[in-house]
Amino acid sequence: MFDNLSDRLQGIFSGLRGKGRLTEDDINSAMREVRMAMLEADVNFKVVKQFVARTKERCLDAEVLDSLSPTQNVIKIVTDELTELLGRTDSKLVLSSRIPNVIMLVGLQGSGKTTAAAKLAYRLKAEGHSPLLAACDVYRPAAADQLETLGNEIGVRVFRGDGKDPVAIAEGGIKDAIANLRDVVIVDTAGRLHVDEQMMEEAQAIKRAVKPDQILMVVDAMTGQDVVNVAAAFAERVDFDGVIMSKMDGDARGGGALSIREVTGKPIKFISAGEKPDSLEEFHPDRMARRILGMGDMLSLIESAVKVQQEEEEKAETERLMKSQLNLNDFITMNRQIRKMGGVSKLIAALPGGEKALGQGQVDEGALDRMEVIINSMTKAEREKPELLNGSRRARIAAGAGVHVSEVNQLMKKFNETKKMMKKMMPAVEDMGNKKGKK
Ligand code: GDP
Repeated sequence: MFDNLSDRLQGIFSGLRGKGRLTEDDINSAMREVRMAMLEADVNFKVVKQFVARTKERCLDAEVLDSLSPTQNVIKIVTDELTELLGRTDSKLVLSSRIPNVIMLVGLQGSGKTTAAAKLAYRLKAEGHSPLLAACDVYRPAAADQLETLGNEIGVRVFRGDGKDPVAIAEGGIKDAIANLRDVVIVDTAGRLHVDEQMMEEAQAIKRAVKPDQILMVVDAMTGQDVVNVAAAFAERVDFDGVIMSKMDGDARGGGALSIREVTGKPIKFISAGEKPDSLEEFHPDRMARRILGMGDMLSLIESAVKVQQEEEEKAETERLMKSQLNLNDFITMNRQIRKMGGVSKLIAALPGGEKALGQGQVDEGALDRMEVIINSMTKAEREKPELLNGSRRARIAAGAGVHVSEVNQLMKKFNETKKMMKKMMPAVEDMGNKKGKK
């Protein structure tokens, strides 16, 4: 699904990405290609026209063209507009307070209504409801048998009534649901291969009789822009609240899915990508738009760029530490790491003979906190260049931290010892690093 369109659009934008600046001509020719790609995906031509006009206008804005990364902005605009086309916000199925709730499914024959009915029942059951399926498709041979089999599979009651009169079966289904404490009735209606007067009248009659809380139209994703005519006919004659797009797992070009919202104003509520009862998913326009534009890949690209940057920063940090340019900020970081690892006692306990050593003397866990308070009382310059800390500065810091100046001296002593120790250790660490690098 959407594979071709997706490839085409991604190709157009990777072409733009190679350019530093974008001109009006670049946008015009990119939008011409977008137009072609969408028409080839069988999106309704009016929808394409409006989509391209909106997108182009936003992309030609001087702010976009003169921005630091115009191509990124263009991609963002296209993602936004695609999301808008697909329905902007998620459109969840909300049940009303009426019990039983009635959901009626309409659509052409073969669109996937019967399977969608079972999938919806399966979903509602998993959410804690107790649905009932009413088999009102009395024309398609074996439709009721198919529903019964699916119902058995998912453990949902199926009402078949006399198997002849669709209106009576729908009404009987509601009575049966009340008698059997079911809180949602899903009415599967009959479709025809094409829009047909009798089908519409029957759907209207069922609607009048059971007054559904929601009517969902099931649309086969393989239908291209022809969906516009079918959906418009259903919208006019029975009206519906939302769409279930079935067969999204096929290699459909996606035209129907991209056209239906714009043409009918009705949101896609669910998509189904498989024949199994658990293959009905809620539809998220933003995710779908990003998928079409291959944003998953772009996101991972950004993620790996950030990772490289972090690695560079870590490398610079290690180099600084290796040159023993340890400063008091590093000291705070070390302190915090020790705390994260469970404090000094835990660290000592983990060392050989540590448990024994701990048994003999007290560890002052509060020392770490006091150290941090003292360092926090220093100026930024003092923390970065501890050699600045003369007598008068130390007295000021001690007063600020509320400790005796001897504690500041003690901290500086510890700091200098650590620095010396690191200087001694570094050649060995460096050596280890070189060996690892040579492997
Ligand atoms: P109805 O005439 O509208 O009731 O259509 P059905 O529910 O009988 O579906 C027609 C065919 O499409 C059946 O073979 C289904 O198994 C199949 N089908 C329905 N939904 C999907 C789907 O999401 N993916 C795939 N691959 N097949 C589906």
